[in-house]
Amino acid sequence: MNTDRVLEDLRELARLTGGPDGARRVCWTDEWTRAREFLRSRLDELPVDISVDAAGNLWADLAGEQDGFVIVGSHVDSVPAGGWLDGALGAFAAVEAVRTQSAAGKPPVGLRLVDWADEEGARFGRSLFGSSACSGTLDVDGVRDLRDRDGERLEDVVARYDVELARAHESSAQLRGACAYLELHIEQGPVLESRGEPAATVLGTCGVERHVGVFTGQTAHAGATPMGLRRDSFAAAAQAALAIREVGFRHDGVCTVGGATSEPGVVTAVAGRTEMLLDQRHLNPAKLGAMLAEAREACEQAAVDHGCEIELRHLWSIPPIPFDDRLIALGRQAVADSGGKDTAIPSGPLHDAAEMARLIPTVMIFSSSSPPVSHTKEEDTPEDDLRVAIEAYGRTVGAALAGAAAGELPPRA
Ligand SMILES: [Zn+2]
Repeated sequence: MNTDRVLEDLRELARLTGGPDGARRVCWTDEWTRAREFLRSRLDELPVDISVDAAGNLWADLAGEQDGFVIVGSHVDSVPAGGWLDGALGAFAAVEAVRTQSAAGKPPVGLRLVDWADEEGARFGRSLFGSSACSGTLDVDGVRDLRDRDGERLEDVVARYDVELARAHESSAQLRGACAYLELHIEQGPVLESRGEPAATVLGTCGVERHVGVFTGQTAHAGATPMGLRRDSFAAAAQAALAIREVGFRHDGVCTVGGATSEPGVVTAVAGRTEMLLDQRHLNPAKLGAMLAEAREACEQAAVDHGCEIELRHLWSIPPIPFDDRLIALGRQAVADSGGKDTAIPSGPLHDAAEMARLIPTVMIFSSSSPPVSHTKEEDTPEDDLRVAIEAYGRTVGAALAGAAAGELPPRA
């Protein structure tokens, strides 16, 4: 891999579609089209066939010696004031992987690049649009009437980009013959930075449980109601929140009470009702289940202690999606051979790779994030870390192509 070329492409993309507030490649906008045109300009230099599928995903195919193909890619779309690397790093490292393989002649099996449409869901709130259409999990009727801030419907907007929503599932035909899916991405969090490591292999995406805890007590006068005679819903939620924090530590997962709102919410009243937002994530399904059970117990205990009722309402959940053991082993070797350590970590954020992992052997490589933030213009990664991650990704692609040619990763029927 020529890491200089990847960094040049990323800087050029940032120049074309970034500004003082950061990247603005929101999917289904002119700026996104500009980002795609730049991606196409790079692909046009290579011996690939370019097409756009029924869900708006862009594909570039490099033919191989044998049947079957390995998929490389990510997304060029961003959040409205995003960073220069989220998605773009994986997309342009994938371009370089195709460049490298095509320069060496025909790869042993095909190599296909994909740029997924609307990974971020920044305009309509539905992330992973293109990859979920491809994997078959997109609920077309559930997204048709989603509206953006100006009131425009998703179905009408995507139609302007030649996506007929009712036919988006036809994208799944793209996976016929797929042997593996490989994606490079920034970590978007502090784990690698805190360990001083440039890159790592990803074990899978964490399962998520989202709930809202509704504590109901009794609104009462703040002056007239003695401490021992209160049914304080806010105190119950606060006690539960601190106990849930310990649940996260205990299981080596993450538990976040991201907010709480109380009613009536005035300084002279005990809060009669408090809604508390809860997000829990773990890669291990049994531990995720245990974390949820313990959070429920913590809420029930807090309700009893403060004379309140508790209802835990389910908002959304997704099971953990583990990546492929064979590809994880290839990734770990590749990171170690590229100047990193033999490290593998779970991903808290979801990625297009999670949709692919449902159907085909999948793995991701993470680069560090430093500062460890994303979805902001401050997002960055030291250049040396990017080079290790890009190199590791290229080696993983080479190993997966060889594995596919050897019949270890049979093409999907
Ligand atoms: Zn991303």
